[in-house]
Amino acid sequence: MQIIDGKLVSKTIREDLKNKISLLKSKGKTLKLTVIIAGNDPASEIYVRNKAKGCEEVGIKSNTVFLPEDVSQIELESVIKNNVDDNSVDGILVQLPLPKHLDSQKALKLIPPEKDVDGFSDGNIGRLTLFSNDALFACTPYGMIKLLEHYNIDLQGKHAVVVGRSNIVGKPMSLMLLKKDCTVTVCHSRTQNLKDFTKTADILVCAVGKKHLITEDMVKEGVVVLDAGINRVDGKIYGDVDFENVSKKASYITPVPGGVGPMTITMLLYNTYLAGLRKIDE
Ligand code: NAP
Repeated sequence: MQIIDGKLVSKTIREDLKNKISLLKSKGKTLKLTVIIAGNDPASEIYVRNKAKGCEEVGIKSNTVFLPEDVSQIELESVIKNNVDDNSVDGILVQLPLPKHLDSQKALKLIPPEKDVDGFSDGNIGRLTLFSNDALFACTPYGMIKLLEHYNIDLQGKHAVVVGRSNIVGKPMSLMLLKKDCTVTVCHSRTQNLKDFTKTADILVCAVGKKHLITEDMVKEGVVVLDAGINRVDGKIYGDVDFENVSKKASYITPVPGGVGPMTITMLLYNTYLAGLRKIDE
């Protein structure tokens, strides 16, 4: 059994990005990411700080716009529009969740796919569905694909079972695996006899948010397991997979923490690089 080390892969990608971004800078192009946060949600503030730190590490100029909790829809949209029109801005990210009185879908629709570095927009999900090469992919599933690539895990013709169908993890992951020539099964909360599906998985992806939903008896020998789940219980973080026991049967498995988690911000930095590069190539 091999542990998939997300910290190591993330570090490798960031080092590579640093070199690529410095090369762009020497040619006169500085990459710029705008992060917009509204309100004082402590978890969101931490995520936003980590995104800014990541940008600094690889040489992306970041600008975090802090909006008050009671910001109006019009004010929020005007900040987004200014950044859409600003040609020096390569990527725009609106930190979710927004305060409840705001219509986040309406606001997010203002970001064109080319600057949507979170990859959540209709445009980017549409492009992914069409297997178009100019999509920007949602960061967490894209991070999982990069992990599979890093460990040279063969995907062609393999049966991938994705548990979870959210718009930000499960659904885009199932499309990315389909693009990689897997045969894909998607499971969700209404799936009957989950074990019947997970048992047949060559590649098992979990993005549910339920501690140890997947147990040893639910997987086959040699399975490759990617666990996106983050479940905080009594101050400790657990995945959706019972790592201790499932790892005895797996050929590759991500730990939680230290597996999928470290890849998400790294892929945001990567998407910002791609967005900037594509603008130059236009
Ligand atoms: P979400 O929007 O709550 O979606 C959860 C999905 O799991 C839904 O599709 C739901 O089905 C399905 N589900 C719920 N109970 C189930 C069950 N008993 N059996 C099978 N499927 C079940 O969550 P999310 O945003 O995708 O996040 C999933 C997990 O990943 C969470 O723990 C989250 O914290 C973590 N996460 C990690 C990162 C990272 O950076 N590592 C990023 C994002 C999310 P229905 O569609 O039928 O409701």
